[in-house]
Amino acid sequence: MEQRLILNVDDYLPGRYARSKILRQAGFSVLEAQSGDETIRLATLHKPQLILLDVNLPDANGFEVCKQIRSNPELSATTVLHISASSIMPQHQVYGLDSGADGYLVEPMEPSVLIATVNAYLRMRRAEDALRRSNQGLEEFAFVISHDLQEPLRNISIYTELLSNHLEPYLDEPSRLYQHYVLTGVTRMQKLIKDLLQFSRLIQDGSEGSGIANLGTVLEQVLEAMANAIEAEGAVVTYDPLPVVKGGENLLEQVIRNLLSNALKYRKPDDPPRIHIAAKRAGRSWIISMQDNGIGFESKFSDRIFTLFQRLHGQEYAGTGVGLAICKRIVEHGGGRIWAESSPGNGSTFHFMLPEPDTSEP
Ligand code: ADP
Repeated sequence: MEQRLILNVDDYLPGRYARSKILRQAGFSVLEAQSGDETIRLATLHKPQLILLDVNLPDANGFEVCKQIRSNPELSATTVLHISASSIMPQHQVYGLDSGADGYLVEPMEPSVLIATVNAYLRMRRAEDALRRSNQGLEEFAFVISHDLQEPLRNISIYTELLSNHLEPYLDEPSRLYQHYVLTGVTRMQKLIKDLLQFSRLIQDGSEGSGIANLGTVLEQVLEAMANAIEAEGAVVTYDPLPVVKGGENLLEQVIRNLLSNALKYRKPDDPPRIHIAAKRAGRSWIISMQDNGIGFESKFSDRIFTLFQRLHGQEYAGTGVGLAICKRIVEHGGGRIWAESSPGNGSTFHFMLPEPDTSEP
């Protein structure tokens, strides 16, 4: 039977006692704490699945304790439900949830409602754990692929070349062509593995998504780095003033770079690329849109292209089908969304939405 351990934190003894009793009767194991320090100590020692955290504690306020839990890698996945009396102001509830709590319960509560609520949060927690485990499995898989496959591929490439040098005087045209096919295949596979590795690193490295990014500066860096490619395609790139958003600058640079290089790559053969990057406010978020005049694609594929290795156009366009999956991963990790609109022959517009940085705390 799975352990169901709850840490019940309240400095008010009668309230804490009553809650623990209800939980124990429902079959939970319950630990109790009366202060912020004790909460962190017991949570670190016993790893409860869920913490019921009173907002007013003698040594710290519950919001701060919750922030400490979230910033502690050992505890950050623990479900935290704040609990306080009905006299609480709505803005405190908002602050508690914004500061990292999973829920906010207001007392008095019917015992059956308390139990059902705790069970519902634990169900969510189990689903999250399962997802995390499966992601971890995927990361390990990608890591193994990159390391174990790179080595034999390198050997294939080296020995194919050595072999053809060795046989050079005897090689006829078909043999040269076959050698070329082998080497092209190897190069493509090396690129796929490299891109897959880059994608799996993003998954592993969750922390880089935090911070504040000035998209104007980020775009300028991308334009500078891609100046040669832009010039080679005869492209004209225009843009609005871009905002500051939540997110890591290095990661968002990858998003803009991937979108821009696609806009250059999927161009019409006879029309020089015209690309415009616009910014529009949407509530407390920004929508950045990159519009091109390229070959476009059928709108029914607009979700599929964000999936790993999905490509709509043929081998005449170099690529591995990883770029947009990377963009999606970065934007969603930063709490945003990415989507595309297009139709064949009429260009494409890629939009991504990201929250603006927090400015106020109560
Ligand atoms: P790659 O470009 O390496 O194939 P991406 O993940 O960047 O991989 O893009 C996935 C697919 O989406 C591309 O293969 C292409 O078919 C389509 N696509 C992406 N950007 C555009 C664009 N600006 N115009 C038309 N099609 C695009």
